[in-house]
Amino acid sequence: MAGVLYIVPTPIGNLSDLSPRAEETLRSADVVACEDTRHTQKLLNHFGIKAELVSYHEHNEQQRAAELIRKLESGLSVALVSDAGTPAISDPGVPLVRAAHEAGIQVISVPGPSALVAAVSASGLGTDSIFFGGFLPSKPGQRRKRLRECAEIPATLVFYESPHRVAASLADCLAVLGDRQASISRELSKIHEETLTGKISQLITIIDAKAKGEFVLVIDRATSEAAIAEKDTPDLKERVRALEAEGMTSRDALKKAAKELGLARSEAYRLLHIDGE
Ligand code: SAM
Repeated sequence: MAGVLYIVPTPIGNLSDLSPRAEETLRSADVVACEDTRHTQKLLNHFGIKAELVSYHEHNEQQRAAELIRKLESGLSVALVSDAGTPAISDPGVPLVRAAHEAGIQVISVPGPSALVAAVSASGLGTDSIFFGGFLPSKPGQRRKRLRECAEIPATLVFYESPHRVAASLADCLAVLGDRQASISRELSKIHEETLTGKISQLITIIDAKAKGEFVLVIDRATSEAAIAEKDTPDLKERVRALEAEGMTSRDALKKAAKELGLARSEAYRLLHIDGE
């Protein structure tokens, strides 16, 4: 009989958040597949759990998924963990879970810590409809493009963010989405945990560029008052003018500015046209 694949969330900061069921699942699994064996070994040591660890991370997911499926088919049970939080949520896991379903192997998700749910539930923003955008792109042009794509989604928007990009991402959120109500949760379940709420413009003044910790941004859905993508044209216009001033033709300036801002040329043309009316 085939084994079971268990998805086991681990603490995102506070070790007491490992549930008794998660602990028992790790204790009884034949194999624990984890992102970083040293990191997970420490967690297992803390709970006095002995287990065979197999590394399963973003660089070996496909190959390891096939190996783990063979173990599952031979009757072994596998517990999948990531470094923190719920596996497969902006973490390795999807190829293995998909392969398990394809192979007819039972997948059991043990509910537990995730920064996504923790932050949304603390945000005070609407939870009837949530869009999880994972990590925003690190390049400003691509980030703005992604935000434009999200601008009219009728749902609370959620993004994971790293400490060195949070200020820049908030500035882009303000420029592209308008001054919406938002929250930033940092260091969830840790000593310096806080959830800051306010308009994006207010949060920008609070978050300093060197802010430490891990962040989740939660942003209110578009409202009729909130400015959205179309209001982002000043950047485009300024950039086109600057490039023209450097001697570029209008056509080339539009092409270059569009590329820099992550816009299709036709969209840039349309935005400039709207702005010019
Ligand atoms: N799978 C994980 C989960 O379910 O929460 C997320 C993994 S993702 C690689 C890591 C990101 O999650 C961080 O960059 C941050 O945005 C968010 N995160 C993780 N732990 C957090 C914490 N304690 N406080 C705030 N955000 C956290």
